[in-house]
Amino acid sequence: MAGNGNKIRIAVVGAGISGLSAAYRVLSMSKAAAVETDLRVFEGADSVGGVLRTELVNNRIVEHGPDSWVASKPDVMELVEDLGLTEQVISTNETNRRSLIACDGELHPLPDGFVMLAPSRLIPFALSPLFSLSGKFRMALDMVTPPKTDDSDESVETFVLRRFGREALDKIVQPMVGGIYVGDVAKLSARSTLTQFVEMEQRQGSVIKGLMARKDNAHERTASGARYSMFVTLKNGVSTLSRALEAAIGLDRIEKNSTVTSVRKLDSGRWSVEAAGGSSEFDAVIMATPAFVTAQIVSDANANLASDLEKIETSSAAVINLLYKRADIPRGLDGFGFVVPVTEKRTILAASFISNKFKGRAPEDCVAVRAFVGGVLQPEHLKLSDADLVKLARADLEYYLGVKAEPLSQLVNRYPASMPQYNLGHAERVQKIISEVNQMPGVFLAGSSYNGVGIPDCITSGTRAALAAVEYARTISKLESVAT
Ligand SMILES: Cc1cc2nc3c(=O)[nH]c(=O)nc-3n(C[C@H](O)[C@H](O)[C@H](O)COP(=O)(O)OP(=O)(O)OC[C@H]3O[C@@H](n4cnc5c(N)ncnc54)[C@H](O)[C@@H]3O)c2cc1C
Repeated sequence: MAGNGNKIRIAVVGAGISGLSAAYRVLSMSKAAAVETDLRVFEGADSVGGVLRTELVNNRIVEHGPDSWVASKPDVMELVEDLGLTEQVISTNETNRRSLIACDGELHPLPDGFVMLAPSRLIPFALSPLFSLSGKFRMALDMVTPPKTDDSDESVETFVLRRFGREALDKIVQPMVGGIYVGDVAKLSARSTLTQFVEMEQRQGSVIKGLMARKDNAHERTASGARYSMFVTLKNGVSTLSRALEAAIGLDRIEKNSTVTSVRKLDSGRWSVEAAGGSSEFDAVIMATPAFVTAQIVSDANANLASDLEKIETSSAAVINLLYKRADIPRGLDGFGFVVPVTEKRTILAASFISNKFKGRAPEDCVAVRAFVGGVLQPEHLKLSDADLVKLARADLEYYLGVKAEPLSQLVNRYPASMPQYNLGHAERVQKIISEVNQMPGVFLAGSSYNGVGIPDCITSGTRAALAAVEYARTISKLESVAT
């Protein structure tokens, strides 16, 4: 029975990368502490991984969702190591390692040393044809503009206009930062999405000075000392990670097609998880579903929490995977991809040249391109049929790359309400959510909705939730065994 002896019962709701990492860590932490644990993972879909979707199409690895992650964050590489996947990690190719920006119908490389919104090296920046002379001068004023004196949050737009001016915002920050979140820079929180740059302003008085003071991060070193490029993936695709987690957790512990409808507190102090197949009792529950889903599940248990969770908006996107004959791209692909500012008035938000980024993503005589559409600023595009989305994406690729040929293959994947929007006040909202969750001892949150949308941040959130859940469940089970 739950809580008897030293056995603990933990539920994880949602088997995206956050929930799977949480479940895996629950098992590894329980094993390390020699605690017998009954773990169950509830997943609404018929497969695990959430937005991680690698498919083998004609022997070719196709990434429908994420294609890589930042290697410098420790929890993700530790997980990769623990799962025995280190040998499979691949860095980005050395050649063509640069990003391009669409500007007036042309593609310009981001100057060497440019980091998201500011240069860390002045010469390549000064020589870049991407910015006008007055634009460069305005951006350089960051080095003498006094920092903001109060610690209130501000939008990405306000932060960038204040420090770098309009050209930097329109040409770089809107497509790059807006692209990561498929969001609106006028609404996104600078504190939550540009954290390191906001800190540089506060510490060094200038973002450019802060970047120049940083040591070279072109190659990231993991805790184990291995050196990788900034972004890495696994030889057989990102989903290798979710599949390995699924196998390590054990199929018998994962209930697929099991949509959780509510989580209720029982008189015993434990939690009842209600799913399609009935209800079950747990000492602790890790909610690893998107915030708006978690809101519905906890609404009976804590209406305030549900209302705070609902305030985290989401945006939707679609990814269009296209395979072309290499010879059909007259311009060639001399980068890892390009972003498209809204001022260009096109359909695609960005295109990633995945076969330039990683080996094995296309046959030698072909190139694979992933185009992204939708987001907060162009939600209407997601109402289009797959055929129309492909047509519009192809028109944009013809405009920027000159490619007129029919693609050899075209695959569209949609991600409704998949990207949380870290809008103005997000950090305070998350604080409020945490204090509400603290009123529900035994319930823990993980996932992309709170402290980072990237795969590494999701893994960290799962790891932290697992640690807290195991500790909590052990404490109450010990208290009970003392009482009986
Ligand atoms: C198109 C796209 C591209 C991206 N590219 C990158 C990238 O290259 N690099 C990177 O680091 N990050 C990238 N991201 C972000 C990152 O992939 C995600 O933030 C992360 O994978 C989210 O994981 P998660 O587990 O928190 O959520 P999800 O993946 O959304 O998982 C939530 C899970 O909960 C399940 N669920 C929902 N409701 C219920 C319910 N009621 N009961 C039970 N289960 C339920 C869902 O089916 C799903 O499996 C990308 C995201 C998208 C959408």
